[in-house]
Amino acid sequence: MTGRSPSTSSDDRARPDVAVVGAGPIGLAVAWRCAARGLRVVVHDPASGSGASAVAAGMLSPVAEAYFGERQLTALLLASAALWPTFAAELTEATGAELGYRTDGTLMVGLTGDDLAEARRLWAYQQELGLPVTPLRPTELRDHEPALAPRVRGGALAPTDHQVDPRLLVPALRTAARRAGAVLVPQPVRHLSEVDARVTVVAAGCGAAALTGLPVRPVKGQILRLRAPGGVAPGFRHVIRGYADGEPVYLVPRADGEVVLGATVEERSDTTVTAGAVQRLLRAGVDLLPELAEYDLVEAVAGLRPGTPDNAPILGPLPGRPDVLAATGHHRHGIVLTPVTADLIAGLVTTGVPDPLLAPFRPDRFDSDAPASVGAAGSGAPAGADRPDSTMEEDRWS
Ligand SMILES: Cc1cc2nc3c(=O)[nH]c(=O)nc-3n(C[C@H](O)[C@H](O)[C@H](O)COP(=O)(O)OP(=O)(O)OC[C@H]3O[C@@H](n4cnc5c(N)ncnc54)[C@H](O)[C@@H]3O)c2cc1C
Repeated sequence: MTGRSPSTSSDDRARPDVAVVGAGPIGLAVAWRCAARGLRVVVHDPASGSGASAVAAGMLSPVAEAYFGERQLTALLLASAALWPTFAAELTEATGAELGYRTDGTLMVGLTGDDLAEARRLWAYQQELGLPVTPLRPTELRDHEPALAPRVRGGALAPTDHQVDPRLLVPALRTAARRAGAVLVPQPVRHLSEVDARVTVVAAGCGAAALTGLPVRPVKGQILRLRAPGGVAPGFRHVIRGYADGEPVYLVPRADGEVVLGATVEERSDTTVTAGAVQRLLRAGVDLLPELAEYDLVEAVAGLRPGTPDNAPILGPLPGRPDVLAATGHHRHGIVLTPVTADLIAGLVTTGVPDPLLAPFRPDRFDSDAPASVGAAGSGAPAGADRPDSTMEEDRWS
């Protein structure tokens, strides 16, 4: 697991240093960072950017997504969010691409008294962790976003939770990877034995399970895109997320007038869009922001998040295969975790030495004989299984 060594034979010179399987945000960012370090990189994907990133909202929300019992995941999310400003600037410099990266902050809201009580429990936990969450009085909330419905009972500001547009991010990463020297091969990898490189990085999202046997499962998310009439920007600028009559929902405004409204969290592997989900999302969205009723509904789509048993990504060498690194299982957080994943995996490929940040996310943490303390959920237990105070999967947003 080292960088380019002084090769001797011509075969060795032709062999890539790194083969990346999967050209979604994770694989492309790994490829970019590896190629920028002077490594020969090949990326395999028949349909780059067609995975979960094609529908993702692009919230960069380590604070709003700091859930009970996931401290190590929260630490990784915070580390990656801290890298985002530099990462976005470097990517724009390398490509000239606009990323839709916005730093207006996030408002977390509750529509009813019950919604607010539920939200406050989480804000209290996030504040306990020392995260920047400022509860707002109703008048302060409306000062921040006058378009919020008068019924909204309360909210809190997470100013450091930002957003990017994944549909701009992925093409930019593809360009950056290519310009740094990575070669994209538009073919699938059906078995790891087809890949010939010193190190293989499996960044195939949900496709990683078939290639590696790792416990990555599809978690379906239905999501809508609306557009403000007249081509103007939406009438709100913060990401807004919260509960509306018990329904978790988020709204992500883009400068071009688009609003992303999401998302369901379903233990299913199909990508059909159902009338019931669309109805629930629209009702919750309009309850929080009545002006949405006047917007065009331009897209209803579903994607598959690469979920794991403890909701945390899987990063590092496969058990018994030091030449195969997993970079998968990013579940609801693959966009925010792109910079840190790319740096950690590129560092591991180059030096062979794992950064301590990787320790809780090792692939072997799911082995029955692995030490329990490596579990990313802190307890090593499956999310929600034995934590009476945990927010259940269905209550989550992204
Ligand atoms: C509705 C929804 C909303 C989301 N919102 C957010 C959000 O707001 N913030 C956030 O951080 N995350 C969000 N996510 C999660 C995020 O989209 C994923 O975590 C992220 O896309 C994972 O990136 P990835 O590159 O690992 O996988 P993917 O984006 O799924 O890409 C995987 C790539 O691998 C390729 N591939 C698969 N199998 C093979 C194979 N055998 N050979 C070659 N190539 C292969 C695919 O073609 C694809 O291009 C959301 C997801 C969904 C579904």
